[in-house]
Amino acid sequence: MPSASDDSKAAWSVREAPNPDGHNTCVTLLDSVHGLGPRMYELCRELYPICRSITGDGVRHTLDVVGKEIPLTRTEVPSGTQAFDWTVPLEWNVRDAYVLDATGRRVVDFNRSNLHVMSYSVPVDEVLTLDELRHHLLTMPDRPALVPYRTSYYEEGWAFCMSDDERNGLPDGTYRAVIDSTLEPGALTYGECVIPGATTDEVVISCHVCHPSLANDNLSGIAVVTHLARALAGRDLRYSYRLLFIPGTIGSIVWLSQHEEAVRRIRHGLVVAGVGDRAPFTYKRSRRGGADIDRAMAHVLRAGPDHQIVDFTPYGYDERQFCSPGFNLPFGRLSRSVHGEHPEYHTSADDLDFVTAAQLEQSLETIASVVDVLEGNRRYRNLQPDCEPQLGRRGLYRAVGGAVDSRSVEMGMLWVLNLSDGTNDLLEIADRAGLSFASIRQAAEALASHGLLAPLEGKE
Ligand code: ZN
Repeated sequence: MPSASDDSKAAWSVREAPNPDGHNTCVTLLDSVHGLGPRMYELCRELYPICRSITGDGVRHTLDVVGKEIPLTRTEVPSGTQAFDWTVPLEWNVRDAYVLDATGRRVVDFNRSNLHVMSYSVPVDEVLTLDELRHHLLTMPDRPALVPYRTSYYEEGWAFCMSDDERNGLPDGTYRAVIDSTLEPGALTYGECVIPGATTDEVVISCHVCHPSLANDNLSGIAVVTHLARALAGRDLRYSYRLLFIPGTIGSIVWLSQHEEAVRRIRHGLVVAGVGDRAPFTYKRSRRGGADIDRAMAHVLRAGPDHQIVDFTPYGYDERQFCSPGFNLPFGRLSRSVHGEHPEYHTSADDLDFVTAAQLEQSLETIASVVDVLEGNRRYRNLQPDCEPQLGRRGLYRAVGGAVDSRSVEMGMLWVLNLSDGTNDLLEIADRAGLSFASIRQAAEALASHGLLAPLEGKE
C-alpha cells in the first residue's frame, strides 16, 4: 500500500486548486453534487416502466439506461450456477399478461402496470370460473385501493396482483387468464462500475435492480448510486470505488461468491435503498457496529436534518449478505422509509409521486459527505507535542481561508495538535471537538504543511 502521505497528496491535488483571487477552494465531492436532484428524478422516470425481476431483459434494459450515464461492466451468470447455498434460477421474461372477461375486455392488464403479474409467474393460458380465478388473484384487503407487488422466485406458480376493490367488483362468469412469459435457462445479470483511486483498497456501494415499477424501492437507489459514480469519475481519489447494480439477495450472494479477491480489498461498504421518499434518514449500522462507515455516517447525519441510527439486524436488503458472519464486511445501509414499515412498501403507491428530486438530492449529498470523510480521514502525529507550538509565528492564525469558516479551523488546529498522539483519527477528533470534519481536515492539512504534523501509515 502506498504511504499515507502519497495518498494525501493525491486526494488533495484537486481540492487545493487556488481561486483566481488566491484563496484555497475546498472542492469536496459534496460541492460537486449540488443541483442533481432533477436529473436523478428523470432517471427514475425513465426506468420506472421497465419490468425488472431478479433475472431477465428488464435488468439488462435497466443497465443499458444506467450505462449511458456511467461506464458499466455487465456480467451474465448462467442459470444453474452455484453460489454458496444458492443456485442461480432460470431466467424469467414476460411479454404480456392479462385476464379477459366474457366480453373480451382486459380486466387486469400488464400493460397498465407491470405490478399486475406476479414476478416469476409461469406461462398460462386458461379459461376459469371466477371462483377458480380468485385463487390466482393477490390483493391487500387492508389497503383495498392499492396493487401489491408479489414475487415467487423459488416456487412455481402464477398469479395476478390487483386492488382488492377491483377484485371485489369482478362479476360472476368465465375468464381467460393469459401470461405470456418464459422461464428457461438463461442468466442472472448484474452491472459494476469501478473507479480506480490511488490505492486498490475499495469502497463498495450497492443498490438493487430487481423490482419492477417501484420508485423508492430500487429506482431511488439506482439513481443516487449512478450519479454518485458520475461525481466520483475523474476525481483524484484515495480509495477505489466499486458501484454495484445487482438483483437483491441472489445478486449479492453471487457477487460475493465470485469476487474473493475484491472482497479482501473492501474497506468500507454501503447499501443504498429507499432514499427518495420524504421520510427522515434511517442509517443501519454494520454488523461490526463501530466500523468507519458507521462513524462517518453518524458524523454526517448528526450535522444534518432528522434521522435515526439503528443497529444491525439480519433482515433487510443486501447488508444481510455482506454482513453474514463468513464475510462480516463493514457495510451499513442508508434508507429513508424503512422497508415493510410504511403503507406504500411493495405496492403501487411506491410510484413516481412517492419520490422527489429534493429528497434524492439530499440523499446523494449525504453519501457524498460520507465519502469526503472516508477520503480524508487518517491519523497524524503531532511533531511538536511539548506544549503548544506557536501558531501565530508561523502565520497559521487566520491563514486558512476558503470554504470552511476560519474560526472553526483555528479551533480545529488546537484540537488536532492536542489529540494527534497517534491514536485518534481526524473523525474522532472532529466528533470530540464538535466541529465539522471539513474544518478538522483543513486544520490538519494546514498544520502538516507547516511541518507540525506528520500523517501516519495505515489507519487500523
Ligand atoms: Zn423490495
